[in-house]
Amino acid sequence: MEARLTTIRETLKDFRSDFWVCGKCKLCQANHVKEVEHARFWRNCPSGTRFRYEAYYASGKMEIAKAMELGEVEPSDAVAHVIYSCNLCGSCQEQCYPVKQMFPTRVIELLREEAVREGWGPLPEHKPIIDNLEKHDNMLGKPQKDRGKWAKDLGLKDASKEKADVLLFAGCKYSFQPELNSAARGAVEALKATGADIGILGAEELCCGAPLLELGDRDFFEQFAAENIKRINATGASLVVTLCPHCSWVFAEEYAPHLEAEVKHASQVLAEALGEGKIKPSKEVSASVAWHDPCRLGRRLGVYEPPREILSAIPGLEWKELERHHGNSLCCGAGGLADYAFPDYGEWVAKERVFEAEFVEAERIVTSCPWCEELLARGAKGKGSKVKVDNIFTLLGESLGGDVR
Ligand code: SF4
Ligand code: SF4
Repeated sequence: MEARLTTIRETLKDFRSDFWVCGKCKLCQANHVKEVEHARFWRNCPSGTRFRYEAYYASGKMEIAKAMELGEVEPSDAVAHVIYSCNLCGSCQEQCYPVKQMFPTRVIELLREEAVREGWGPLPEHKPIIDNLEKHDNMLGKPQKDRGKWAKDLGLKDASKEKADVLLFAGCKYSFQPELNSAARGAVEALKATGADIGILGAEELCCGAPLLELGDRDFFEQFAAENIKRINATGASLVVTLCPHCSWVFAEEYAPHLEAEVKHASQVLAEALGEGKIKPSKEVSASVAWHDPCRLGRRLGVYEPPREILSAIPGLEWKELERHHGNSLCCGAGGLADYAFPDYGEWVAKERVFEAEFVEAERIVTSCPWCEELLARGAKGKGSKVKVDNIFTLLGESLGGDVR
């Protein structure tokens, strides 16, 4: 894989007015107090809340970017910990941009690209991901030939061999992790109920490259993106449906200008189908549930309502909104691959989110992101919580009568 996607790229210098002008007003350190009821949930920067030093908030990272430009700070383990414990969750930018029109999360992403260029990023703990992508084309290091196994018996077309109108892009985690397969099967169940003509690329589907972009390795990311784009365009599909919000994010922001097909997250397609009366969930799912907005789907892409419309349409579900929701949502702790390098930290964040579900008395916390699902479940277990973690597509598939678990 040799190709590159972009010729002109953003660099840290393009945002120097942001990190020079940042006045350390600290708006980025918390949610708006009038939007979140209890003070317990005002804090919303996971790394800052956990490690508490200024450096771990966006305001501190803006100062680090400035100090690096001035040559006042050299890369060190401490600086790398600050830059790579950030979840790239976008909460700081959510607070900063409306008031200051600045992009602190983008500055942190570009600090990581600088780290990779200079050779001090990513961290040794991230090396297995890079090795797996180099050797196996997927981040989990599994044999690519098994990538489509999750869908055997589902009657989907092999889009690398025959044309399908809708190409379902499953992503590495939904494809390879058996405990997450039920969500992918639930999504297929629901998409089939809409009457869609669906195919997958199976072994021909590569990692979308999102982990590389999050780690700051844009060159390597673009190799995956360019090859995927070539393979997707060759299918002739008119719509690409993504399941994982991390795939959705890079498809929307990086792939879309080069794709011949429209791209939507499965929750968008299925909420539209509900609105048009094409699908009607009928089987009761008796539980009180709270929706956890994945950062890449919510703050990054603005997809907030479709998952809520889907959950509201499932009979028997009692709806609870978490205190931190929509733009104020708290990251699960996995974003930016921070949990990969610092699992104790990741679990700490997940436990905080599970506590929030307990606080609103939800029996289940529901999401559409395999990263969130996995880490929140670890957080619930580590906390000894009764809160269960579920996936929206599993619930919808079940309510449509599918045998998806
Ligand atoms: S990043 Fe934005 S919100 Fe945060 S301290 Fe700087 S100017 Fe204020
Ligand atoms: S992106 Fe999220 S974790 Fe990183 S500094 Fe901003 S609010 Fe904190």
